Amino acid sequence: MTCKKCGMPEILLSTPQYQYLESGLENIYISPAKIIACERCLIKQLQINDLELLNSTITNSILLKPFSLTSADLRFLRQYLGYSINDLAEIFHLEVEIIFAIENNQEPISPQFDLLIRFFYVKSLEESFSKIVATNLIEQFSQIDFENQDNSIVLINLETLPQYYYLQSS
Ligand SMILES: [Zn+2]
Repeated sequence: MTCKKCGMPEILLSTPQYQYLESGLENIYISPAKIIACERCLIKQLQINDLELLNSTITNSILLKPFSLTSADLRFLRQYLGYSINDLAEIFHLEVEIIFAIENNQEPISPQFDLLIRFFYVKSLEESFSKIVATNLIEQFSQIDFENQDNSIVLINLETLPQYYYLQSS
């Protein structure tokens, strides 16, 4: 493969852990990871064989997260499921500005809205993609910790998708 920008041959690097910021999320780590890089342009890109499977794995990790959803989580879910901000405003009978503010961390996410959003996307995944997220959802959702700050990371090995692990970072 050659660099799209400068035409130099790209190199393949291995790294034990890669923070997957391209997802728009700060807590997703790919481990181990292969990176395609151009030494001249200093461009680095994660090598992904099955982007759809990676995105659906991240989606599951968000929907079943044992802590409150973040604004970045909400944006990821909405984009993965192909809804616009206008769609959500219509579905939830909210002003577009409210959805926009929630996704930009300007408006808090109540536990009730968090749960409503999760149920909505789980249902949406079932209906549109025939994907089952989990079978004991109500039990899992009742154990979500809305009191404490989430400091966990999601660790994903691309070789063992759709598995993922939560790790507490200190
Ligand atoms: Zn280059």
